[in-house]
Amino acid sequence: MTDMVSRKRRSEIMRNIKPQNSFPEVLVRSLIHKMGFRFRLHVRSLPGTPDVVLPRHRKIILINGCFWHSHTCKKAGIPKSNRIFWKKKLRRNHQRDIENLIALKQMKWRVLVVWQCELKRPAHLLKRLTKFLADN
Ligand SMILES: [Zn+2]
Repeated sequence: MTDMVSRKRRSEIMRNIKPQNSFPEVLVRSLIHKMGFRFRLHVRSLPGTPDVVLPRHRKIILINGCFWHSHTCKKAGIPKSNRIFWKKKLRRNHQRDIENLIALKQMKWRVLVVWQCELKRPAHLLKRLTKFLADN
């Protein structure tokens, strides 16, 4: 029966599998948890399968890897080999991020994007999370 899934579809499925439970994500989750918030993880029914969803507050926290989401920091940037491939791929990711953000905002979700590099500044990160979650 697996043959019923075409190669194209299979690659689509593969592409949609994001690395879950990455270190940055687990850390952010534990911080929010300690603050006493309840949340859901990787909600597939929402655009882009957001990482952390707080349904009661209608808030979403995305934990983005700097490379994959083309952050404007030192960790990001296009690899030297296969430049054209990476350029296309990262541009597509970026475009999808923007589309998802717009869709979520139209659905009246409030979204906070946490970048992987922010984990190096825990006090700053905690402040951002606290501010976002306390804000009504
Ligand atoms: Zn970054």
